[in-house]
Amino acid sequence: MARVYADVNAELGPGWYEYEHLHIEWNVPDNYEIIKRVGGGKFSEVFQGIDTSNEETCVIKVLKPIAKRKIRREIKVLRNLAGGPNVISLLDVVRDPPSKSHSLIMEYVDNTDWKLLYPTFTELEIKHYLFQLLTALDFVHSRGIMHRDVKPGNIMFDRANHKLRLIDWGLAEFYHPNTEYHIRVGSRPYKSPELLVGYSMYDYSLDLWCVGCMLAAMIFRKEHFFRGRDNEEQLARIVKVLGTDTFERYLEKYNMQVETDHPDLLRKHARVPWAKFVTNDNRPNVTPEAVDLLDRLLRYDHQERLTAAEALSHTYFNSVRFGAANKVKDPVSDSGFASM
Ligand code: ATP
Ligand code: MG
Repeated sequence: MARVYADVNAELGPGWYEYEHLHIEWNVPDNYEIIKRVGGGKFSEVFQGIDTSNEETCVIKVLKPIAKRKIRREIKVLRNLAGGPNVISLLDVVRDPPSKSHSLIMEYVDNTDWKLLYPTFTELEIKHYLFQLLTALDFVHSRGIMHRDVKPGNIMFDRANHKLRLIDWGLAEFYHPNTEYHIRVGSRPYKSPELLVGYSMYDYSLDLWCVGCMLAAMIFRKEHFFRGRDNEEQLARIVKVLGTDTFERYLEKYNMQVETDHPDLLRKHARVPWAKFVTNDNRPNVTPEAVDLLDRLLRYDHQERLTAAEALSHTYFNSVRFGAANKVKDPVSDSGFASM
């Protein structure tokens, strides 16, 4: 069971977490004009657009034909989280009768592609953005919701304004204790051990594994910290770093077995000390605080992983928190970015 926020949905009741029978009033899309395509994935085509009623830029997420239940879930989650820190805003939902296509109208973020952005991050920026991400996650979890697809592609950065938004709520789900969930969620390099070994009674803590993967990739300056070609290799990559002994203790604790013939999972691996990943290029990022936080996030056992709130209060973020506490009128110039 989740260490925190386990009973949030029971307390808030079905009006909060039920979405199967949610009735959605779809508006007409007449006010929205497409400007250009900005992305897309398995479930949608995403465009930058304009709301002609007020000339504001927006995002038009045109949903591919997907299950009604999934559309309702994404909308319910976005509405429940409206106004939360660093959560993308849902502005409108529209249906185009001729094409029958459904679109979500969202707040637009002038995003810089993370593959270009991350390698240029300073130590202070890494801290600032991870703090923003964790702030979003603590809020989301406190509302009884797991995101289940935290990864760089689902985090929009507006570097000019030091703004971060967590997007793509298509896989988000409400957390109920002792419930089995689909393990086919997340994106491979960010899949947590519980997803890879088939432990389905997971909770909010699976999102914290993704944060750990992002922290590792950012401080060590790798595109993805763990990267396998399939799920088995993904697990092998993790075990080759975190070691076999702890992995076996983890499996034992949850009474699990992994059937595999992957050579790297059959062999014994000693834990690799974090210092082994230090290079001349990444050294300034790899402070003792960063490594300590990383070590507490990248744990096989989801019950051992720090929660979002615990991570936020880690000493790694002292300078960010200190800046936030002293925030006066202009958060941008007072956040310490002036010197970058
Ligand atoms: P996937 O299957 O890849 O996870 P998806 O179909 O669920 O994606 P999103 O992740 O919501 O869709 O959006 C796809 C892409 O569109 C994003 O990776 C991003 O590049 C772009 N995008 C989405 N929302 C916004 C936004 N609010 N502002 C700017 N760009 C956005
Ligand atoms: Mg996405």
